[in-house]
Amino acid sequence: MRLIFLGPPGVGKGTQAKRICEHYNLIHLSTGEILRNEIAEKTNIGRKAKSFIDAGELVPDDVLLGMMNNRLKKDDVQSGYLLDGFPRTIPQANGLDNIMNNISHSLDCALSLNADENELVQRLINRGKESGRSDDTPEIIRQRQKVYWEQTAPLLDFYREKNLLKEVNGIGDIPEITERILKVLN
Ligand code: UDP
Ligand code: MG
Repeated sequence: MRLIFLGPPGVGKGTQAKRICEHYNLIHLSTGEILRNEIAEKTNIGRKAKSFIDAGELVPDDVLLGMMNNRLKKDDVQSGYLLDGFPRTIPQANGLDNIMNNISHSLDCALSLNADENELVQRLINRGKESGRSDDTPEIIRQRQKVYWEQTAPLLDFYREKNLLKEVNGIGDIPEITERILKVLN
């Protein structure tokens, strides 16, 4: 199975992605985590990404597409994966289509988790107290929400038109939301 998780920052993509990957035995590919590792290791990709992440902007499409083109060719993902946080723009979604076509992978579902913006901002401010993430500050959190609505939300229609979109309410307790997701995937 090959899945995409869509949704605004703070909606619980990472938390739910881990649980869904365990359930179906999928590889969890969080591009945000991959980028943070690249930054920690001071790689070329990390150097290119850092200023964008710290400003709450998106890392350029060519950086993400190059990185994911390499990643999706590796052996460990051949039996299935969940893309958490990627693609984030229409050019990235088109690029991902090409990457997957080239290796004969088909997408099973793009799952969108939804929640009210005020709830999301509050969750992220709380997370910022523990995560130590440079982008979990109130100002950057607002900026990331804005970027989501401007650049990523158009992907909902993109996948809806391909009949791949499923939407799930992300308000509730963690196991309850996992159940909702499993139900729409079955
Ligand atoms: N980011 C990006 N492209 C990606 C993933 C992450 O540009 O495919 C950058 C972007 O600056 C984003 C930050 O990394 O604001 C954190 O992403 P992550 O997915 O970890 O944050 P979340 O949205 O889950 O809070
Ligand atoms: Mg995340």
